[in-house]
Amino acid sequence: MIAPPLCAGCGALARQVEPLCAECRRRLRWLPQDPVSIGTLAVWAPVAYEEPARGVVRALKFKGATRAARTMAAQIAAGAPREWLGGGRVLVPVPLHPARARRRGYNQALLLAEGLAARTGLVVEDCLVRGGPAGTQVGRDRRQRLTGIAGSVGLGRHAPGAALLVDDVITTGATLVACARALREAGTTSVVAVGYARTPGR
Ligand SMILES: [Zn+2]
Repeated sequence: MIAPPLCAGCGALARQVEPLCAECRRRLRWLPQDPVSIGTLAVWAPVAYEEPARGVVRALKFKGATRAARTMAAQIAAGAPREWLGGGRVLVPVPLHPARARRRGYNQALLLAEGLAARTGLVVEDCLVRGGPAGTQVGRDRRQRLTGIAGSVGLGRHAPGAALLVDDVITTGATLVACARALREAGTTSVVAVGYARTPGR
């Protein structure tokens, strides 16, 4: 017996293909079509980071991940600025801290980027790496050395010419800004970012 899928927003029965029931889908708050700026980084997300979108984000992390990723990617692809989804831009998932990736077994931003790739035909390059308090710079070459910024993001391999950063949630944007900085320092000339949900009011 396979348990019927439950709504990630309210726990009611949901359809097989959707993480949210019809009632919760109606409660989603859609954000404006125009991107917003966090520092020099333009970011865009389809929905506000509040219930029931929070439930969809939780589903991507803990249960029903594939179903959630498909729906989230579809909503990003449907509404993101057209020019962001073409022109040979490369999808770059925000890296997970290695310890967290080990615990969870996968990076939810990578899952989302793969969903976007399936929709848009863009290529995914998982080229960023995340360090942390436990990370050490000993033994790394200059290119790999993690920059000493919040979230300490560095480049694991060559940078794409144009990048679309992908994350599940955009709150302060500090991690995305750190990722954009790492890419730009490595030669990426154009960086923009999408998420599924964004804290409104930015
Ligand atoms: Zn619901």
